[in-house]
Amino acid sequence: MTDSTVFIATNDVAGLTRGRAVPDSEHDSVLRKGVGWVPADLALTCFGPISDNPFGSTGDLRLMPDTTTRIQIPAGHGRPGVHVYLADQTLPDGTPWECDPRTFAKNALDDLLAQHGLDVTASFEHEFMIDGLAPTAPFSFQRFREIEPFGSELVELLNRVGLQPETWLPEYGDNQFEITMAPSPGLVAADRAVLLKDLVRDLAIRHGRRATFAPLMDPDGSGNGVHIHVSLRDAETGEPVLYDASRPGSLSELGQRFAGGILRHARALTAITAPSPISFLRLTPHRWSAGGIFLAERNREALLRICPTTTVGGGHPAQQLNLEYRAADATANPYLALGSLIRAGIEGLNSTDEFPVVWPETVTEAELEGVPPLPADLDAALESLEQDAVVARWFAPDLLETHLAVKRAEQAAVAHLDPAGRCRRIADVY
Ligand code: GLU
Ligand code: MG
Repeated sequence: MTDSTVFIATNDVAGLTRGRAVPDSEHDSVLRKGVGWVPADLALTCFGPISDNPFGSTGDLRLMPDTTTRIQIPAGHGRPGVHVYLADQTLPDGTPWECDPRTFAKNALDDLLAQHGLDVTASFEHEFMIDGLAPTAPFSFQRFREIEPFGSELVELLNRVGLQPETWLPEYGDNQFEITMAPSPGLVAADRAVLLKDLVRDLAIRHGRRATFAPLMDPDGSGNGVHIHVSLRDAETGEPVLYDASRPGSLSELGQRFAGGILRHARALTAITAPSPISFLRLTPHRWSAGGIFLAERNREALLRICPTTTVGGGHPAQQLNLEYRAADATANPYLALGSLIRAGIEGLNSTDEFPVVWPETVTEAELEGVPPLPADLDAALESLEQDAVVARWFAPDLLETHLAVKRAEQAAVAHLDPAGRCRRIADVY
């Protein structure tokens, strides 16, 4: 089998990868000219039907491939190979489209650099479940082996396409696994988050299995989180700027301000980072997802966790210290998620508000009693997004309107189901 097609992809507000393919004979041409696309495609819900949107039946766009994102999925297990490129959505003359999620992320990263001289390093950590496996213990070697040869093939595939897998592990929940990738420049990390999910699903299908990244498979089960790790560097010197051993949590003043912006806008942010009808069933206390809006040292219930550092093997804490945003899941668009976190961080850097509390590792649940809760459900999160005038300004009005409409349409589509039915519906899609 040959790699006869080139797929040009975008990721939409439903967090799904969509696009168009051309024959490999058009490979060079498509890199120059892109392929056609439709503005209203942004309003496709995760279930298929299109939501209300400001675009209607008119207008045209181009999907312009970014050549640096090229991957080649090799042929195997009965599926041909394919070249995949991630694209920016542009106007027909090639200028950026203000509603394109990838452009949204680029602009946020550019503004952080222009205003504060900072570069972002990031990594998205993904959990998922695979069906049809024999029951095995959490974190066990048995589970690790149970999914072979899928696991080894996945690590090999990710290596081959340059996604730099770091850790592949059997996780806590039933049939749950996790894969992490090496930290990379912000946009690259978001690109990888887009590609990873489709690579995992594609490989699982080749093995006759189904992988799902749904935030929950059932309301009482373990959650599948996407944890977004972010650190900042001085763009001129390359030096990391989040670490200061003399301060609480070893988080620098700058880091605390950046985190403060994320905490302040957290309710609205979750409407972007955890935007499915079941996302907020996962975001409840005692699930190690995110139990409230707080910043804490090495605490897995925190919205923002200051990750551990180690000096073992000659490690440098300053090079490692990063903030982990835990209230994201795989129903989010990675570009909108990362871009929004950066935008919130910029707000924090620009503000002179008090520094947020850095809760120490020893904090008790009783002490955390007063921390603000996350929205109770998607409706509440969407309301917060609409009402947070600062956050609303980050988005082109048509993008924000479409995001709200898509999420409300998805909510309405499963409103008649009980929580278990909603989880199953979402698991079918993601
Ligand atoms: N499964 C948890 C979540 O839903 C995360 C557990 C962990 O800390 O790895 O986010
Ligand atoms: Mg995990």
